[in-house]
This record gives sequence, structure tokens and C-alpha cells, in this order.
Amino acid sequence: MNRADHKRLFLPGPVEVRPTILQAQAAPMIGHRMPEFAALFARLQTKLKRAFFTQNRVYISGSSGSGLWEGAVRCGIRADRKVLHLVGGAFSERWALVSRANGLRVDCLEVPWGCAHSPDMVAEALEKQAYDAVCAVHNETSTGLTNPIREIGEVVRQQADTLFFVDTVSGFLGTELRVDDWGIDVALTSSQKAFALPPGIAFAAVSDRVLQRAQGIKNRGYYFDFLTLEKSLQKNNTPSTPPIALMYAADAQLDAILTEGMEARWQRHREMRDAAHDWALSRGFGLYAQAGYRSDTVTTVANARGIDVAAMNAFMQRECGIAMDTGYGKIKGKTFRLPHMGDCDMDMLDEVLGGLDAFLESA
Ligand SMILES: *Cc1c(COP(=O)(O)O)cnc(C)c1O
Repeated sequence: MNRADHKRLFLPGPVEVRPTILQAQAAPMIGHRMPEFAALFARLQTKLKRAFFTQNRVYISGSSGSGLWEGAVRCGIRADRKVLHLVGGAFSERWALVSRANGLRVDCLEVPWGCAHSPDMVAEALEKQAYDAVCAVHNETSTGLTNPIREIGEVVRQQADTLFFVDTVSGFLGTELRVDDWGIDVALTSSQKAFALPPGIAFAAVSDRVLQRAQGIKNRGYYFDFLTLEKSLQKNNTPSTPPIALMYAADAQLDAILTEGMEARWQRHREMRDAAHDWALSRGFGLYAQAGYRSDTVTTVANARGIDVAAMNAFMQRECGIAMDTGYGKIKGKTFRLPHMGDCDMDMLDEVLGGLDAFLESA
């Protein structure tokens, strides 16, 4: 593709990647059994632990985040026990489907799309039935909702044998997440959302409790087996060939992120969230997610004006060179999303909102 034709991505993944990060991938290749690779792996461990606020190891997977959904449930849930999925949007639904597809016994605690799970609901469910794990989505990208993971974690921790698995694919590095303080046993994420890397690499911070559980489970699969990943991690390595170019990109991006500072990064996202809310409400749109739980990384706009989202996207591509979201799954068109995440800044957001105003005037 011609670079001049590039449409800047204003999508909730993949997001726009800065040129320096794209260039970091072009460094000369190394072999993953060479000492240079172990050094790269060790560097990434140190930085990833800081980013996740954890002392736990962080596995690096040559896959998208969905692979680690599978790894977490296969390593953490025994065949004769059950897993509880907190479901309230497209991604939490799909994670439950993944557990079922792996033959696990699944219960879903459902809330309407756009609503948060309360700690009380989870407490009630855990009183009725023992679960090997609770699976929650931190930031539901379809609905633009952030669940109260810290508070849910407190409830899950009351059950000695229940692990807490959190998908933070679109929350990590854009909104507060503290793995150790919040009692999270698996925190998994992808690269192409608030991390602002190209797609194809995924990360999971995994507790010792998960590895102990995994030892008693026979069929954990191979590619996403945490015990296999652990054996290699002890040697600063991976069992199979890792996405080395993407690891270069992650190394450079983590330097930039840790220099910006985690709190400052979260604050930048909150400011963009506020600007997105102001724009949507002042233009006669609604906000899809429940008040008090609206995401810092993606605003799901309720299309109260009934605009033609395909025409909006076409206008934005033609007039501004920006590719827009048009909503996800069953709320496509009834909503569209403003993904103010990753390295998106207020200037970029202002440009998008200015373009949208021009579209509204022209329509
Ligand atoms: C994008 C997304 C996923 C899927 O991640 P992949 O990297 O595409 O596998 C899962 N959960 C959430 C919340 C997401 O936003």
C-alpha cells in the first residue's frame, strides 16, 4: 500500500501505531536461542511487570489475546468443576464461548449490554456454587464499559479455591489496573489496543496459584499451556518461535510508556474520555454505557440522531483520511465508538470530532 493512501486508524483495535514503533520492528533479526534474545526477553519481563503492577511472571504469546483466553481457562479449570463468566457484551460472551468450546462446564452471570457487574451479584453467585475461576472483562470494548474489577476481586478473594481471570485487552495501559493489589490471577491483554502496537503478540500476568492448579489438570493443550511457557520463561525464552519483531516494538513502546508514567497515561485517557462525552452529549447523541462505569479508553456513542454510520465513515476517510468505527456486533449502527486509546492524543481526538461536526453539517 502506498503510504500516502494510509488512513489513520481511529478504531478500537488495531489502533494507529507511531512510526518509531513500526521502525523498531525493522531491526536485524536474531535467533530465539541466541543470548541476545534472552536479554530482550528479560528486559521485557522487567518492564511488563511494572506495567501490570505485579511480581508475577508475564507470558509472551505469539497470538492475539483470544489465544490467552483459551490458555487461562484450560490451565485453570478442572474438568469436574465449573467456571463463572461475567457476561455483558460481545467480548465477555465470546470468552464464555471459548470455555464451552474447550469442553468446560460454564455458568454465565449475565447483565444487559452496557451495564456493569456489581460485586454483590458476584458474591451472591459464589455463595450458591463453588467455582474454579471467575472470568471477567475489565473493559468491554463493544459497549464502552469498565467493570469494577478491584471490587469484584475483593469478593472473589473470599473464596480460597476460586481464581480470578481478567481480560484487560482494551483496558491495559489506558486505564487503571493493578494486578497484585486487586488479586488478579491472570491478567491477559493484546498488543493492538491501548498498548498501541501492531497486532500479533499477547501478554498474560499469571500467578503461582494458577500454575499450582494447572499441575493437577491433564489436558491443558500445548500452545497456550502455562506450564510449558513457564519452563521456557525460567530460561528467558519461549517454547516455540516468538514474534521477535513485535517484541522489539514492545520493548521500545514500553520505554515510552514508562517514561510517560502510568498515572499520567491513565490521566491522558480520562481527559480524552471527558472530551468525547462532552462532544457526544452536546451534539444530541447519548452514551451507551451505564453512568459511573464509562470507559476511559473507548466511548460507545448511542446513535440517538440516527446518523448513517457507513456514510460517516466514508466522509471521514475521504475528507480527513481517518478510518472510523461503526459499532460492534448487535449494536452496530445503533452505536459507533470513539476509541481514544493508545497513543491517540487530544489533538487527534479534536481532529476527529471536528471532522464529525463537518459530517453532521453536511448530512
Ligand atoms: C479485541 C478484544 C478481544 C480480542 O482480542 P484479540 O487480540 O483480537 O484476540 C478480547 N477482549 C476484548 C475486551 C477486546 O477488546
